[in-house]
Amino acid sequence: MKQLRSEGDSFSFEPYWWETDQKIVLEKYALPETLDVLVVGAGYTGLAAGIIANGLGAKTLIVDAEDIGNGASTRNGGMFGAHPRVGWEQLSLNFGKETADQIFKEAFDSLTFVRDLISSEQINCDLIESGRLQLAWSQNDHEKQKKLVSVIEEKSNINVKIIPRNELVNEIKTERYYGGILFEDHCGINPFKFHNGLINALRRKEVPIVENMPVFSIERKGDRFKIHCGTKVIYARNVVMATNGYTKHSFKWFKKRVFPVPSFLIATEDLPSELIQELSPRGRMMVETRLKYSYFRTSPNGKKIIFGGRAAMKPIPLILAAQRLKIVMHDIWPELKKYRLSHVWTGFTGYSFNHIPHVGQYNGIHYAMGYSGSGTVLAAYLGAKAAYQALNDPRGKTGYSNTSFKTSPFHIFERPHFLSVADFWYRNISDRWQNR
Ligand SMILES: Cc1cc2nc3c(=O)[nH]c(=O)nc-3n(C[C@H](O)[C@H](O)[C@H](O)COP(=O)(O)OP(=O)(O)OC[C@H]3O[C@@H](n4cnc5c(N)ncnc54)[C@H](O)[C@@H]3O)c2cc1C
Repeated sequence: MKQLRSEGDSFSFEPYWWETDQKIVLEKYALPETLDVLVVGAGYTGLAAGIIANGLGAKTLIVDAEDIGNGASTRNGGMFGAHPRVGWEQLSLNFGKETADQIFKEAFDSLTFVRDLISSEQINCDLIESGRLQLAWSQNDHEKQKKLVSVIEEKSNINVKIIPRNELVNEIKTERYYGGILFEDHCGINPFKFHNGLINALRRKEVPIVENMPVFSIERKGDRFKIHCGTKVIYARNVVMATNGYTKHSFKWFKKRVFPVPSFLIATEDLPSELIQELSPRGRMMVETRLKYSYFRTSPNGKKIIFGGRAAMKPIPLILAAQRLKIVMHDIWPELKKYRLSHVWTGFTGYSFNHIPHVGQYNGIHYAMGYSGSGTVLAAYLGAKAAYQALNDPRGKTGYSNTSFKTSPFHIFERPHFLSVADFWYRNISDRWQNR
């Protein structure tokens, strides 16, 4: 395990989750020459797509460019729920009322789908019925939350509850917030165990998953695709791209539409159980309304605080990320100042320009991506939708196919250089304004 040292901390810079379960050693497979479905990328999107394609009788192969589990799916915060990142009004303005309604409805449908998948595949991923608390950073944010609750109650089956400021004391020990919304159906999971569980489900079904097998090109040849994969060429009737924040430059059309934004997480050393109980009495998943929001939770074993945020909008050294996140965490919970960190890590989320994921096809290549930081539920759900669509199954219908997946005039270079401007803006203007 790689170690870093800083200000008395000596911590690993691999995800804490990776210590909580065995890394799976995949069987060796000879690559088949022809397939019904090739899935590119073995995170939640690709693995769920593989399960569905195989269930529909398609000869399926899943490949990943890296060691299995190197993407965001084993690195995330494990906050499990699919509330749309964009409000109903904005969705309706951009894509019409029907699509806005459908996306709000799918917040519940997707949660149910993925929970059913977890139970039908008997995945033990430390799922806890914690609820998720969205914490208002200002009074104004809390007023907006009250309006959001009435929209959610009208448009979705998700159970939500306003938590006024004077009741926050039952949820979190801090004076920082002005109230909150509780998403009662949202949960917490161990993301690494969820990923391992999906892999094991596919292994039981004997669906091959091959790691360190990058796809370099996909070319249409009549009714099939010719795919350069590692050093091999394979032919597939359908391809599902499931590469999200790790999409490579060779896939320019996708790369122009989904860009990588890093997110950073720290874990504290094991804390006294009374302290954890005092800081977070109900063990909720928590997220803020601040533009550059923090998200935090207790670890499933109840011993650590896991605290995440956008320490930067671009990759930075992990020691710096840890220092920045610690400052924010200590501002909320000064009690943690005397405890050390055990881990800091990062991963790439895949952002779309309108912050809404998209499921569709480009030149016949199916895809699901653009979860914009919220993919523990949506990636698995929309990966399944992409597989259904690829195989012409009516269950592929989703409001996320009616959203747009556009590039931006600011995205003119190969890399998303506009993130440096965003980083400057967040750190020097928006953060100072919101934290004043
Ligand atoms: C630090 C962090 C914290 C997060 N916290 C949360 C959270 O608490 N709640 C939440 O809902 N979401 C969270 N997310 C987002 C969530 O993890 C992602 O949306 C989700 O995991 C995306 O899954 P995916 O399968 O689409 O992509 P990934 O899991 O990133 O997998 C993509 C895979 O594609 C592979 N690939 C890329 N190009 C190729 C190629 N050419 N050939 C073959 N393979 C290729 C990559 O190697 C990678 O393994 C977080 C993300 C990060 C990074």
